[in-house]
Amino acid sequence: MSSTHPSQVSVEIPLQVEAVVKTYRQGQSDVTALNGIDLTVRRGEFVAIMGASGSGKSTLLHALAGLTDVDSGCVRIDGQDLAKLSDTQLTRFRGQRIGLVFQAFNLIPSLSAEDNIRLPAAATAQLDQKVHDLLERLGMLPRRTHKPEALSGGEQQRIAIARALICDPAILLADEPTGSLDSVSGQEICQLLRTLCDDQQRTLVMVTHEPHVAMWADRVVVLKDGKQLAAFTNSQLHDPQEVATNYQQALRPAAEYVL
Ligand code: ADP
Ligand code: MG
Repeated sequence: MSSTHPSQVSVEIPLQVEAVVKTYRQGQSDVTALNGIDLTVRRGEFVAIMGASGSGKSTLLHALAGLTDVDSGCVRIDGQDLAKLSDTQLTRFRGQRIGLVFQAFNLIPSLSAEDNIRLPAAATAQLDQKVHDLLERLGMLPRRTHKPEALSGGEQQRIAIARALICDPAILLADEPTGSLDSVSGQEICQLLRTLCDDQQRTLVMVTHEPHVAMWADRVVVLKDGKQLAAFTNSQLHDPQEVATNYQQALRPAAEYVL
């Protein structure tokens, strides 16, 4: 195990989180947003993070992206410990190895769909082809010259996902990616994310509080008060009721199990 080279680890384990703690200081009081989180995600795996509002989901995703410093513990992406990078190195690493998708799409209004996708990438001879391939795969080729305002919410999120993929990241991190969408568009985005993991071995960690979104994941991790309460594997049935039941069971106080 210890003889494994970091670059070999990265092939199978794009994300490794160990004992991560994060406390926010607010005036007199401290809020421990993450209280010892461990998480290992395999290549091609789709993990959903569930939990009530304030349970630490966004803080965890920000810590994975290196957007938030952690107080202790370690986040490794592609074998790289984020804490070992300088600010400049971290910014570059994030741009190249981490794809971010947010609830609010965050597209640049003045740029066309294809120019939004192109934005994070270095200009190379292959770039046009890569943009074309992503537009095609995400069903957005006919809309490539449209500005974001001329696209539906679901279409904007497809463009944001394409932008996140253009640098071929080790991992895709998505915070409530369907939160601004109607349920039909939301399900289409979930199906797309599922396909990216299945067909392209993309690795995805997605925050959501909705069972019918989490049901697309391979594994669901439940947070409460910054701690992992439980994790369960999803069947391939994409059954929201199954997820809801497992989730409620995870949140139920342990005392209820006492006979
Ligand atoms: P979630 O995404 O699950 O709703 P968050 O990660 O946003 O939860 O928040 C976890 C806890 O940390 C909450 O108690 C929240 O109030 C607190 N928190 C989050 N961000 C900050 C911040 N920038 N400053 C102070 N407290 C914060
Ligand atoms: Mg949040």
